Amino acid sequence: MTKGILVRKAGGPEAMEWVDMPCLPPGPGQVLLRQTAIGVNFIDVYFRSGLYAWPEETIVPGAEAAGVIEALGPGVKDFCIGDRVAYVMAHGAYRESRVMPAHRLVALPDGITDTAIAGAFLKGLTAQYLVTASYVVRPGDTVLVHAAAGGVGLLLGQWLHALGAMALGTAGTDAKCALARSHGYAHVINYRTQDFVAEVASITGGKGVAAVYDSVGHDTWRGSLKCLSPRGMFVNFGQSSGMMSGFSMQDLASNGSLSANRPVLFDYIASRAELVQRAEDLFGKILSGALRLDTAMTRPLQDAAKAHQALEARQTTGSTVLLP
Ligand code: NDP
Repeated sequence: MTKGILVRKAGGPEAMEWVDMPCLPPGPGQVLLRQTAIGVNFIDVYFRSGLYAWPEETIVPGAEAAGVIEALGPGVKDFCIGDRVAYVMAHGAYRESRVMPAHRLVALPDGITDTAIAGAFLKGLTAQYLVTASYVVRPGDTVLVHAAAGGVGLLLGQWLHALGAMALGTAGTDAKCALARSHGYAHVINYRTQDFVAEVASITGGKGVAAVYDSVGHDTWRGSLKCLSPRGMFVNFGQSSGMMSGFSMQDLASNGSLSANRPVLFDYIASRAELVQRAEDLFGKILSGALRLDTAMTRPLQDAAKAHQALEARQTTGSTVLLP
């Protein structure tokens, strides 16, 4: 047996229960993982609340963790007992131990702690594919990122800076704006007190930005389109404020022959080769110091509900990590 968080019925943070749950021995191609640090992501909120459909009748939330391999199933050749590993996009992470397919694990290099990577694996891989594949950022580009002081936002700002782009950000308090500015952003706009469309026009001398990375969705997408220069790229990769509604292809034409992309991390790491290649790029950026992972806040795994409450109430900056 192991312990973890179970959700029987979609609802608020209080729907998460701390329960005993079975932990079977690893089957062929699987390993048993003792989890040491579990990342909290907004996608966990989407599943818990029922915004995203559940694959089963009940769910264990959570999409990423780091841990240590405690047992190998038949046929596992690439890992040994005692290896430190991490995974992403394998739902069911909020528990102390679990069985995982070995081909979805990535070995962790020395120099990156379990807690640091649990706060930065899913979010860092997201930043990686956003700047290298959703819209290929070039040195000198000016781009806009919403929720710049959030988990993905702080990593994205640093990555854009490392690529030689000028990153503009938005955030919901002046303190968040200051934090984002210390993580790669050249300008950060408090979009609760300022009109971000007018501010972006002023900063860019009316030219607009080459791309907008918009994870806020409902509250920002119309303004995001207005911030783009002609033929710019609108990347909507989340909906922290609610699903976008009313969008049509005509909006792309009327705002200057724009393009739009609605990417999902899983499709950028579906093959093992792509997972490993993107992870190596991320680890390289961390080990070189281009990405600072100094903002993770930790809580005991039992307190997952408090972590969700804070995330949904816009009280967090950077990432939150649950410790079993
Ligand atoms: P964040 O730490 O960014 O938290 C969400 C932030 O969104 C809040 O802190 C808040 O920042 C902002 N926000 C704006 N409006 C609201 C609202 N009404 N309610 C709550 N938050 C709001 O979360 P993550 O780093 O975990 O994820 C960021 C986004 O990226 C999410 O939308 C997530 O779904 C998406 N994502 C998408 C992926 C993909 O592949 N498509 C993969 C990973 C993440 P502020 O107060 O500054 O406005």
